[in-house]
Amino acid sequence: MQPLRIMLLMAKTGGGHGAVADAVAQALEHVYGEAVEASVVDGLRSFAPFPFSHIDSTYPWQVKLGGDGYGAAWRALNDAGRARLLMKSTWPLVRSATLKIVEQPVDAIVSVHPLFVFPCLWAMHRTGRRLPFITMVSDLVAVHALWCNPETDCLLAPTDISRLQAIDHGIPAEKIQVTGLPIRLQFAEPNQPRPAARAQLGLLPQQRTVLLMGGGDGMGNLGELARTVGFAGLDLQLLVVAGRNKKLEHQLKEIDWPAPTHIYGFTQDIPALMNAADVLISKAGPTTVAEALARELPTILSGFIPSQEEENVTYMVNAGAGVLAEQPDQIIATLKAWLEDADTLAQMSAAARAAAYPRAAFDAAEAIYRVTRDTPLIIQKPRREPLLAALERFLAA
Ligand code: UDP
Repeated sequence: MQPLRIMLLMAKTGGGHGAVADAVAQALEHVYGEAVEASVVDGLRSFAPFPFSHIDSTYPWQVKLGGDGYGAAWRALNDAGRARLLMKSTWPLVRSATLKIVEQPVDAIVSVHPLFVFPCLWAMHRTGRRLPFITMVSDLVAVHALWCNPETDCLLAPTDISRLQAIDHGIPAEKIQVTGLPIRLQFAEPNQPRPAARAQLGLLPQQRTVLLMGGGDGMGNLGELARTVGFAGLDLQLLVVAGRNKKLEHQLKEIDWPAPTHIYGFTQDIPALMNAADVLISKAGPTTVAEALARELPTILSGFIPSQEEENVTYMVNAGAGVLAEQPDQIIATLKAWLEDADTLAQMSAAARAAAYPRAAFDAAEAIYRVTRDTPLIIQKPRREPLLAALERFLAA
């Protein structure tokens, strides 16, 4: 039998969308073996025309320089009508690239990035070849209106709150399934005791351990944060993940740290590092937060991207698994209190466990497989571009 060919469309604006797509692809392979052929495709880099193809490289700057403006734009567009209008206005520019995407020889498309949802569904109107289409929301809580075209066959929502937001944006409730936010398969494996996890990484097994992260791109004043924590005189070992931020990685490696400190560039070892740590300090990136919950890791949220990540903070705080502390003195005070209070840490770990979806990638993979298998390919008459059709009518009259 031919394998079901499933294309997971993502873009590298931050590390999160790619991480979700990779996790689902791994789970599809793991569960269905040769019955599925999953491909993770960077829709911007592989298909989009310049300058859209390079939006990913400007993303850290959009967020950093945009500041509140980025949040304001995000909020202004978070409305079904306005989101549709925005996508309509870019449609003439992305049309031919999107047609190429939907003409790929695949049996289903899974959009793991909000930018592809409307264009892909519209492009399939144009080709007349309607493939099964699944929307995999890769933010933890906030479901922006750009994700929400009701024509999708299925929307996979990471949390109950995101399910409600998708319904608000017009997705029929029966098309939504809550799976959790897919994270790498290692997170579904049971946690080891922290000292054993530390020993495996060559760390001091009995030393309190603090992990610092700033998403895939090492964002969110990570350098300053590392210096603040490293020089606070606390009895700990420090692990700092600079991610793709090479400059920061080099700067941090030059420092003569007073406490045992390990600096990592982009590493595949996050599941092990989170298992080894007692506390995580990180911006409220959706995937990082979901991973920390799965590793039962109490988290100090040191910041968030305005609007987009704001609700992740509320989610963690309400779950009892994290606190927001943006100022250096707040961070140090919280860290000090936690490191001296094993009961608080244990309670927060238990709360994290209760809110976690460690098997989310498997549940999403099962839903994607089922929809792909059960939704028929529909071949219909291609719909013309409204403008072209109007022009033709005008010429014929
Ligand atoms: N990540 C990783 N290695 C690194 C740094 C980050 O695998 O060196 C992963 C991290 O575990 C998470 C993702 O990158 O899966 C970051 O996603 P998140 O949604 O937290 O933040 P974003 O990068 O999208 O802002």
